Amino acid sequence: MGQIELKGVAKRFGDAEVIPPLDLTINDGEFVVFVGPSGCGKSTLLRLIAGLEDVSGGKIEIDGRDATAERPAQRGLAMVFQSYALYPHMSVRKNIAFPLKMSKMPQAEINEKVTNAAEVLNLTNYLDRRPGQLSGGQRQRVAIGRAIVRSPKAFLFDEPLSNLDAALRVNMRLEISELHNELKTTMIYVTHDQVEAMTMADKIVVLQAGRIEQVGSPLELYRSPKNRFVAGFIGSPK
Ligand code: ADP
Ligand code: MG
Repeated sequence: MGQIELKGVAKRFGDAEVIPPLDLTINDGEFVVFVGPSGCGKSTLLRLIAGLEDVSGGKIEIDGRDATAERPAQRGLAMVFQSYALYPHMSVRKNIAFPLKMSKMPQAEINEKVTNAAEVLNLTNYLDRRPGQLSGGQRQRVAIGRAIVRSPKAFLFDEPLSNLDAALRVNMRLEISELHNELKTTMIYVTHDQVEAMTMADKIVVLQAGRIEQVGSPLELYRSPKNRFVAGFIGSPK
């Protein structure tokens, strides 16, 4: 299960209200993309869901349970950081196993999970390499592997492809979509890239200045944008 419900969730930094109270439901298994211009609050919203920031108001429910006061590790979600967050001195195997080591899981179980994740991500032949000996795409897959081994209720991605070159970005986009088809786990994916949003999402959440402008499928947003901002952003002729 991986249903996430935001009820009146708000965030202030000092006097600045970065996220006015908002409601949003993310259904189990959905691929949801938060899209909007730089500074609109996408990362903040994701960090609130992950528990890396405390809400200033409202409530976050995960599978019907109030998770607002829970620490990140208790929420059962996995944030996928950009590939440069890997440990350069550790092998791929150790990088992927790292979160499990922290949780004191028995070694045999860790090995099995790492093997399975490596298979899903086509990293089986790279487990003994270090991140510096991998391509950008492979490094990104290791970062995803680190999330997969925890069997999270949802994956949270914050612009995971922004430091990859254009060709690789297209590739990784497809890989993440395939991963979603395979695992069917809820994914929340933050990007400022309209093409990523339109091609990957089941549901797009368009944000501007911390407010939700519109929520809908790519087709709904394309066909019936609620306002000029959404139309301009999604790039339909209206
Ligand atoms: P995005 O990810 O869409 O580019 P962010 O969520 O990073 O946007 O930022 C939204 C707004 O919140 C910006 O105006 C940013 O300056 C502000 N902000 C983000 N984090 C902090 C913080 N820790 N302290 C103060 N302001 C912040
Ligand atoms: Mg951001």
